[in-house]
Amino acid sequence: MTNSISNINPVILGYHHVCNHIYPSITRATVKQFLKQVQYLKTHHYSISVLSELLLDNQSINKNSIFLTFDDALSCLYENMIELLLAREMKGTIFVITKYAGKETHWDYYKSSKCSQLNWRQLQEIANAGFEIGSHSHTHIDLNSVTHKEVKFEMEYSKKIIEDKLGRPVHFFSYPFGRFNHELTDICRETGYKGAITMKPKISRQNIFQLPRSAVYLFDTLTQFKAKLNQSVMEQKKLEFINFFSLGTIIIKNFRKNNGSNKNFLQF
Ligand SMILES: [Zn+2]
Repeated sequence: MTNSISNINPVILGYHHVCNHIYPSITRATVKQFLKQVQYLKTHHYSISVLSELLLDNQSINKNSIFLTFDDALSCLYENMIELLLAREMKGTIFVITKYAGKETHWDYYKSSKCSQLNWRQLQEIANAGFEIGSHSHTHIDLNSVTHKEVKFEMEYSKKIIEDKLGRPVHFFSYPFGRFNHELTDICRETGYKGAITMKPKISRQNIFQLPRSAVYLFDTLTQFKAKLNQSVMEQKKLEFINFFSLGTIIIKNFRKNNGSNKNFLQF
């Protein structure tokens, strides 16, 4: 297994919530918005698959290959996303925060969000339907701010829990808050993952442990969605700008955690 992923830059889209609940977050898509995007992909004959396809012979990956990913494994996905994709012969990769599976999303934000996290029974059903399940760490801590030992624990323990619960190998890791560095990349590889995804829309040096990903936001129009598929430079600049502010969100989060409040508009 090498770190290269052929000369094709895979288009990986990043979602969180897919639901109609109203609360102050832009890291979500309404059901109508998501349906429109999925319908666009179907009509234009994009091939939608799970990330492990990247590990196979890359002949099957081409410019029409799109990978849908869902961080935080929220319960609204079970109600609003799974059937919608399966009906169109599409699948995605869902990243679980293992400590909170089946529990409320009280790990850092949105007391107003009505979605909890998918439970193990739902995750098993979803995995049986062909979706891939990856790890989004055990506690969703910013891995840049903890020790080597803690990083190892977050990556190793969450992988083991998912594998034990679902009886399937876990190949991919999604860095909490999309934050990564070369040390995290190395630990991820050593821990037995085969790849990892970031929140950076473009990464010049190809490395399967630093896969680029374009987030889809509540305010994205279909035109902006198409720009993500085409890896438009303008769209990538926009996403980089938003990512820059997510860094501020982590700082605010830590500040508010210490002061009894922890709402954020960006979650990753
Ligand atoms: Zn997350």
